[in-house]
Amino acid sequence: MIEQQLKEVETKIQAACDRAHRDRSEVTLIAVSKTKPIETLKEAYDLNIRVFGENKVQEIVDKYEALPNDIHWHMIGHLQRNKIKYIIDKVDMIHSVDSVRLAEAIEKEAGKHNVIIQILLEVNVAEEESKFGLHIDEVVPTLEIISQFPHIKVCGLMTIAPFVDNPEKNRPIFAKLRKLSVDIRDKNIDNTNMSILSMGMTNDYEVAIEEGATMIRVGTGIFGIRNYNL
Ligand SMILES: *Cc1c(COP(=O)(O)O)cnc(C)c1O
Repeated sequence: MIEQQLKEVETKIQAACDRAHRDRSEVTLIAVSKTKPIETLKEAYDLNIRVFGENKVQEIVDKYEALPNDIHWHMIGHLQRNKIKYIIDKVDMIHSVDSVRLAEAIEKEAGKHNVIIQILLEVNVAEEESKFGLHIDEVVPTLEIISQFPHIKVCGLMTIAPFVDNPEKNRPIFAKLRKLSVDIRDKNIDNTNMSILSMGMTNDYEVAIEEGATMIRVGTGIFGIRNYNL
């Protein structure tokens, strides 16, 4: 079942890249496996998926232990400061940094483990009240502080676009995040690059790719609908 869905996602990614005159290699597919059991991740692994996205610390810890160590784990969900220590040496990247306070706590744990952790700043581009993320105006001032932390490397920006019936509605959101990353790049802030734009989910990843996404986070499109009551 996953195999067919993965093929369909792959076809759509390629088509979106073609429309945008982009190379497929510019876009990393993150398979968002939250709530899914180990066997399902193993199935994806056997289909050559090596990049997984999770939003709960405990799930990352459990799945990390149970699955091969050539997997790249991405923390994409809201992160509580007291739980950073459990995943700091397990994840490749934290997509959801939205405050100096959280970054300070990450810096502290990364220092203890003597690792440099890659992060993205989460931006609430759509200004949805229910969502985490920095307001657009807060991004540069936040970056100027976080970029000085020796165990943190800022690699780009992430956004979660609203759930909409027509993905075209999110095109301006993605374009805005991309513009922000270009503006930041022009500032040449130390220890910061803007190579990554993490945007686009099952509903809207094709539009996100057309607008410059370099990481898309696809759950339902690969694994089917989630059951949160398991
Ligand atoms: C769950 C989740 C996704 C994947 O959502 P789908 O609509 O199932 O593709 C992507 N990004 C984040 C931050 C998520 O929490």
